[in-house]
Amino acid sequence: MKRIYFDHAATTPVKKEVLEKMLPYFSEIYGNANSQHMFGRDAVKAVDEARDTVARIINAKPSEIYFTSGGTEADNWALRGAAHALRGKGKHLIISSVEHPAMIATAKQLEKDGFDVTYLEVDKDALVHPETLKKAIRDDTIFIGVMTANNEVGTIQPVKELCEIAHERKILFFTDAVQAAGVLKLDVKELGVDMMSFSGHKFYGPKGVGVLYIKGGTRVDPILTGGHQERMKRGGTTNVPGVVGLAEALRLADEKREENAAYVASLRDRFIRGVEERIPEVKLNGHRTKRLPANADFSFRYIEGESILFHLDLAGIAVSSGSACSSGSLEPSHVLLAMGIPEETAHGSIRFTFGPDNTEEEVDYAVNVLADTVKKLRAMSPLFKVQEGEKQYV
Ligand code: PLP
Repeated sequence: MKRIYFDHAATTPVKKEVLEKMLPYFSEIYGNANSQHMFGRDAVKAVDEARDTVARIINAKPSEIYFTSGGTEADNWALRGAAHALRGKGKHLIISSVEHPAMIATAKQLEKDGFDVTYLEVDKDALVHPETLKKAIRDDTIFIGVMTANNEVGTIQPVKELCEIAHERKILFFTDAVQAAGVLKLDVKELGVDMMSFSGHKFYGPKGVGVLYIKGGTRVDPILTGGHQERMKRGGTTNVPGVVGLAEALRLADEKREENAAYVASLRDRFIRGVEERIPEVKLNGHRTKRLPANADFSFRYIEGESILFHLDLAGIAVSSGSACSSGSLEPSHVLLAMGIPEETAHGSIRFTFGPDNTEEEVDYAVNVLADTVKKLRAMSPLFKVQEGEKQYV
């Protein structure tokens, strides 16, 4: 059976060119980047080059790039590190209510440590409105974090505008760009952000390596204490192959960014059209135009997302219900609930995320399988009865 991968927001395969670039750093150039000798110097050279590449692509200085173990660590570091560094100034933190669990769970823990957190409301499309942010700011606000693009519904936030509001009040602004890196243009100077996170495995790089950009002069405490790595800010032996792979993957993604985005968006739009034409009682979640090119997230009323996922899996189509991180739990997605989607509808949601290797044939096949699956499941659904060709809801 052909296997079709429509879950690129969960992770992506490592590109061949990226893997080739990484391989020597496992067993040939294996020095510890902290060592003083020639083996160490070879490793450092590779790490320095990777740092230069990443910095160039996001328009930062190499000294502002910090390598981490992934998006989760970078998010944790930004929020917890800033909260602790600035606690003398205030104890109020603001994040959006649709952030990734790496941010939400960290914020919840900081609440237990005595910080106040406002989880910004979003509109029905998951957008944070500048007015909502303005109203939430207090005299003791020290941190604002709003993601660049949402991992579940793909909505792209007005980061530059939100950042300006934060800076008018002299508050530090962070954006989680894990879903946006390699896909959207990310220029830290143009956006104005003080910190930004991203993760290698979302743009055809390796898993377990990420970046936190920290603008020079930004006050943020380390959260991983240990050796002197990353200019004393993040302890832990540098993941040299990972760092090399991340930089190469970002470079390649950036080179083809516009071309890939246009192609992937054409698949997404073909899929959205197909679903909306063929399947009644569906809702596209997230903003229709301010959305990531790869993302189509749908709620199929009267049925469970998990059942749809299971049937698609049997037909060789890999998708996600909720986010990769929250699926597996029976709780409906916090993102969909924050958008005001009723619980029953939120339960029937599936995320399809496309990639440059997908084809129109795959999209058409998925629409067909999906239409059959939804029909079958609704016929069995106690909430949806089909009688002599007519829909009847109970
Ligand atoms: N932030 C967002 C928006 C994500 O989508 C993810 C991963 O799904 C993360 C953070 C966590 O990144 P990582 O998997 O590298 O820990």
